[in-house]
Amino acid sequence: SVNVAANFLRPIVQADLQSGKHSSIVTRFPPEPNGYLHIGHAKSICLNFGLAKEFGGVCHLRFDDTNPAKEEQEYIDAIKDDVRWLGFQWDGEVRYASDYFEQLYQWAVYLVEQGKAYVCDLSPEQAREYRGSLTEPGKNSPFRERSVSENLDLLTRMRAGEFPDGTCALRAKIDMASPNMNLRDPILYRIRHAHHHQTGDAWCIYPSYDFTHGQSDAIELITHSICTLEFEDHRPLYEWFLEQLPVPAKPRQYEFARLNLNYTITSKRKLKQLVDDQHVSGWDDPRMSTISGFRRRGFTPASIRNFCDMIGVNRAGGIVDLSMLEFCIREDLDYNATRAMCVLKPLKVVITNYPEDQELMLQLPRHPKRDEGVRELPFAREIYIDASDYEENPPKGYRRLMPGTEVRLRGSYVIRADEAIRDAEGNIVELRCSYDPETLGKNPEGRKVKGVIHWVPAAQSVECEVRLYDRLFSTANPDKDVEGETSESFLDNINPESLVVLKGCRAEPSLLQAQVGESFQFEREGYFCLDNVDSKPDALVFNRTVTLRDSWGK
Ligand code: ATP
Ligand code: MG
Ligand code: MG
Repeated sequence: SVNVAANFLRPIVQADLQSGKHSSIVTRFPPEPNGYLHIGHAKSICLNFGLAKEFGGVCHLRFDDTNPAKEEQEYIDAIKDDVRWLGFQWDGEVRYASDYFEQLYQWAVYLVEQGKAYVCDLSPEQAREYRGSLTEPGKNSPFRERSVSENLDLLTRMRAGEFPDGTCALRAKIDMASPNMNLRDPILYRIRHAHHHQTGDAWCIYPSYDFTHGQSDAIELITHSICTLEFEDHRPLYEWFLEQLPVPAKPRQYEFARLNLNYTITSKRKLKQLVDDQHVSGWDDPRMSTISGFRRRGFTPASIRNFCDMIGVNRAGGIVDLSMLEFCIREDLDYNATRAMCVLKPLKVVITNYPEDQELMLQLPRHPKRDEGVRELPFAREIYIDASDYEENPPKGYRRLMPGTEVRLRGSYVIRADEAIRDAEGNIVELRCSYDPETLGKNPEGRKVKGVIHWVPAAQSVECEVRLYDRLFSTANPDKDVEGETSESFLDNINPESLVVLKGCRAEPSLLQAQVGESFQFEREGYFCLDNVDSKPDALVFNRTVTLRDSWGK
């Protein structure tokens, strides 16, 4: 039940289908396997897979794996998991740009034969100088007029491994004076004697992103190649290659604004730094903006998909408020999460007038609004309530337990606080209360009891650990501001209270059946899930997904 915002690509696809330009559409999601996917990638996944689904087309998952130095199998596996978890399935097998290395090489040879590419011996520094600037045209490389046969010979020897890294590169011969820097004889191949996760040691030259991307799209007969706006300036080059080469199709590139979310980092490089420098426990730390982090935190795939629908797709960009994402998960969990009680800071309560041997099994609804059945909860003479639900010097408006006042135990009786027992230091270690036996499922006679608190039975509850997660960064723009000042690094803006670990919490016994992937509303505390890494059947660990209400900054 969320508002679906506009997506400017929808009418474009519609028109292409109506005009018969395409009989069906093929999109692709093309991550580089150099890190885990983040919430920005989720936008791209929902867009590419979503359009294909909506218009009866297909979407490919293609790893853009042209940079072996930074890529790893671990990332490939995690990315596949994340896409599936979000609820999408790619068409056919997973694809790799490296599957096309031989074809790409043949096309490089073709360009050389056409006199449209040359081997250049300028060092990277020299090449930068020759390239000019935005205000100054570049200069032709002294190697630009090499003959076709010399270039073919050099390219063959580059491939054969005769030259060390960086000694030369294959460049397209386009226009060193073009106002678009990407057209100033861009690099097609670099020498890199590196092992590749897919192709092993078959290659010691690797194609550039620009030389790979459009041709891979063409090979896969992609109809709409959708990428983020920073590639807008690359589009003329994308089209140049497709014009020059005997490719099987001419896909078209469209650009949209990337997702920027406040309080959040969406850069793989920076996320990797958080992991490498151990500011977080790993890529799937529940505070990370990675898809696996959100998953471990207890976000549902639907909440993330709804969020992507709500923000829409346009070319204008802007910064999205993190509270929109939190709204989406709250809305999902309010409807779907099972209710349960868990006492985070237990204070023992002895109900002195409750018979020691009296057994009472209560049945509480698993959901207040939906018919999800009941959960069983034993009531007993000894229970735990939260320490913050008893105050001797309460603030105004306090509705929980105070000396001599009454409160309702959720789903159970009304109790009155009679006496607090203290240890030698004066800390309250136990409460003595009495219950009104006439109040089970009924209002008490002649008086109003307003407060309702959560509780668990002492003996039958389960000890557990609860991890209270909050935003990882305490400033809206982690890259910039510390209270209006410019910070040196986003690391300065890490929220020191982004994780609070509580041990010795007490969960109601029904939570022993909790499954990974299941969400709960711990009444009055927030939404929680089992930690998918550290929780064990005899040592439960729950993560707070989100608080019940938006209380940030209040
Ligand atoms: P990063 O800057 O984090 O390294 P990237 O763009 O280099 O991201 P890729 O693996 O190349 O990461 O991204 C795969 C796809 O996801 C690309 O089409 C890219 O445009 C898209 N994408 C990446 N970040 C975002 C974002 N913040 N919002 C929307 N789409 C994104
Ligand atoms: Mg990229
Ligand atoms: Mg990148």
